[in-house]
Amino acid sequence: MVHLQEIKADIRPGVELVAVSKYHPAEAIRQAYAAGQRAFGESRVQELQAKRQELPNDIEWHFIGHLQPNKVKYIAPYISLIHAVDSFKLLLEIEKQAAKVGRIIPCLLELRVAQEATKYGFTPAECTAMLAEGQWRNLHHVKLCGIMCMASHTDATAQIRQEFHTAYSYFQEVKARFFADAPAFCQRSWGMSHDYHLAMDEGATMVRIGSAIFD
Ligand SMILES: *Cc1c(COP(=O)(O)O)cnc(C)c1O
Repeated sequence: MVHLQEIKADIRPGVELVAVSKYHPAEAIRQAYAAGQRAFGESRVQELQAKRQELPNDIEWHFIGHLQPNKVKYIAPYISLIHAVDSFKLLLEIEKQAAKVGRIIPCLLELRVAQEATKYGFTPAECTAMLAEGQWRNLHHVKLCGIMCMASHTDATAQIRQEFHTAYSYFQEVKARFFADAPAFCQRSWGMSHDYHLAMDEGATMVRIGSAIFD
C-alpha cells in the first residue's frame, strides 16, 4: 500500500517531496511512479543500482545516505542530487567522477545538528572552515545547492524544532557569506516521516519521506 496522495496533500506548496524507497521493492516504487511521483531517495548504492535497472529511466534518483567515496563512480552517471556530502574528500571524488562522465552533479552539505552522537555530517564550524578555505570553488563538476540535516530521533518536539532552526540559520549565514551570487544554493533538505511538519515550519524546501508513504 502506497500512501502517496495523503502525504502529497500535506506537503506545502514549494516544498519538494523525495519519496524514500530504501528497503522497499521496485514494485512499491512502480506504484508511486504510476501515481505521479518521480523523485525517489535511496541510501545504499548496491540497492539503488539494482532497482534502477528495473525501473523507468525518467526517475530522478536522490542519494540520501552516507556515501563512501569509492562508491561515487557507480552513481555519478545518473544521480540527480547527493544529499549528504560530509567531507571535502567526498566532494573531491564527486568532482573527479562527474568530470569523467561529463556531468555537473548537484550536492548538499550535510550539517550535524542532532544532539545525539551521530557519526556523519560537518559541524557548523567544520563546514564554514571548508567553505572559507575556498578550494571548492575550483570544483567545476560539483554544484553546491544547499544544506541537508537530520534532527535527533526523539519525541521532544521543541528539540527537533530547535535543530531545524539551527540548520536554517546556518543556511542563511553561509548563503550570505559564500553563495550570495549563486541562486542554485537554495535547498534545505530536512524532515522525515515523523518530523516533516516541523521541518516545513523551519524552512525546509525538500522533505525526505519513507515510512509514511511505503509502510
Ligand atoms: C530513511 C531516511 C529517511 C526517511 O525516513 P522515514 O522515517 O522512513 O521517513 C530520510 N532521510 C534519510 C537520510 C534516511 O536515511
